[in-house]
Amino acid sequence: MEKFIVSARKYRPQNFSTVIGQSHITTTLKNAINNNQLAHAFLFCGPRGVGKTTCARILAKTINCESRTADGEACNTCNSCQSFDNGNSLNVHELDAASNNTVDDMRELMDQVRFLPQAGKYKVYIVDEVHMLSPSAFNAFLKTLEEPPAHAIFILATTEKHKILPTILSRCQIFDFKRITTKDTVDHLQEIATKEHVEAEKAALHVIAQKSEGCLRDALSILDKIVSFTGGKLTYNNTLEHLNILDEDYYFKWITQMQQQQVTDALLLFDAINQKGFEGDMVLEGFAECIRNVIVSKDERTAVLLEVAEDFKSKYVETAKAVDTGWLIAVLNLLSDAAISYKQAKNKKLHIELLLIKLSFLKQAIQLTVGDSGIEKKKITESTKTIAFKALPSFSIAAKERKSIKKAAVIPPAPAAVMMVEEPQKEWKKSAETKMATAVVETEMPITKLGSLNKIRNLVSAQNSHSVAHVPLTQAALETAWDAFIQKLNDNKNHSAATNFKFASLSITGEHGFDITTETNIQQKFIEAERSELIVFMQQYFNNKMLTYNVLLVEKEVPQNELEPKPINTKTYFKMLAEEYPMIVELKEKLKLDLEY
Ligand SMILES: [Zn+2]
Repeated sequence: MEKFIVSARKYRPQNFSTVIGQSHITTTLKNAINNNQLAHAFLFCGPRGVGKTTCARILAKTINCESRTADGEACNTCNSCQSFDNGNSLNVHELDAASNNTVDDMRELMDQVRFLPQAGKYKVYIVDEVHMLSPSAFNAFLKTLEEPPAHAIFILATTEKHKILPTILSRCQIFDFKRITTKDTVDHLQEIATKEHVEAEKAALHVIAQKSEGCLRDALSILDKIVSFTGGKLTYNNTLEHLNILDEDYYFKWITQMQQQQVTDALLLFDAINQKGFEGDMVLEGFAECIRNVIVSKDERTAVLLEVAEDFKSKYVETAKAVDTGWLIAVLNLLSDAAISYKQAKNKKLHIELLLIKLSFLKQAIQLTVGDSGIEKKKITESTKTIAFKALPSFSIAAKERKSIKKAAVIPPAPAAVMMVEEPQKEWKKSAETKMATAVVETEMPITKLGSLNKIRNLVSAQNSHSVAHVPLTQAALETAWDAFIQKLNDNKNHSAATNFKFASLSITGEHGFDITTETNIQQKFIEAERSELIVFMQQYFNNKMLTYNVLLVEKEVPQNELEPKPINTKTYFKMLAEEYPMIVELKEKLKLDLEY
């Protein structure tokens, strides 16, 4: 293989039509030249290595050409063109603002602007990386830009348009350069390879194009390097090796292994990859890209986004058909999580291995269901529902009553979230046991099953058949009784219970029953705690042994669509605690604590 000239220089485009991938700009420029409507200042924006400086030079050459072609291209033969091509034209001045960004550099350049060109029509000033100019240099430049001489044309190039001052932007004709597509890059590389008699597999050129990420200059220099290392024979494998890229085949193997839950094979494969010198973060990124490509291949419309070598396209499409979207998305999620936590991981290899284990069993952990909105993913491991609210502590009651005790049940919130609380199942640690000894509530426990309720009523009315008439249950009487009970609580120094009783609202449900409606768990808990006292008190007050009540919890501000009550957050939890134990608030204030909920 004879001497290989750096492709980027040798194959630098000599006219507009040979510029790769920027036809939207070259056409406009050619038209402007042909119609003599050339602006005095241009701003070329775009990523690095996509042809900004090249276009600037071609523009400079073309407008100075002595015999332009009919379609507005430079002739490449006249004196001016020759001097441009040899790099000794006096009509083009380049300033790299990245290294010459002081006000003096700029003044020096601007001093030259005043002089007419010795030959040709225009002097072209190319300022590369113009966003790097110092503010004072910018201002010096701005003065000239405001009133440029007729023979001067400024071409500013930048990779960071947002850093350019609006005063500059408004004085320039702006051109946005595009990233070079993989296809364009591959085609260009192929063209050069053919001209240079280099044998190159298409897949190898694809890898180079992908690695260069739309920067043609990088693609060409990669090509140069690999050509010189491989003696002019580019294969897919030696290109991967040279670029330190992991073969996509490994990822496909992983997908297959994970689908079949072959965790051992997946781990062994990672070990092999690791021994080749590939680091975990690279593997994560590569695998994520592979999964992305499979997802993209699912739909013909998005398949155009697949930028891989033709040889691989069919493989992606095949895999896409064989694998569930839900699984792919779950894998992608786990991969991105792992990539985020990779840096913090102490044992990087273990970090990846654990991920591989998870991914291998992922198929077990998710289940797909087809719903109205397409495919939905359900995690089996998460299907066990969390407990919606805490069970309410309660007092213990006679053994024979326990049989009929039911757990607190949630009635779906329609129209409001109403929670019917029957007998809570936990034992209330207070002295309920002793209270029970005196309370006569054995048969009067409110039980919602209608059958047993009637049975009890009959029983009770039979027992009380000899008793005197009841005090009629009216709202006013009920509230008076309620207040009396609160007074009793206060007398017993049970102030926190009294407070909670005050907030409850009462409503009569029938001749022998009423509802106590509370708004919080805490209130309800306090009222439940006094159940044995309360029922005795009320029955005595109304002289009615059949009198019963229900404690309801009506939660406010529950959105209609929320079917399951949310777990309590820490803020609410604190409030609840504070309500129950006012000491906490006192403690918080005494210690001057700031709470982070
Ligand atoms: Zn010419």
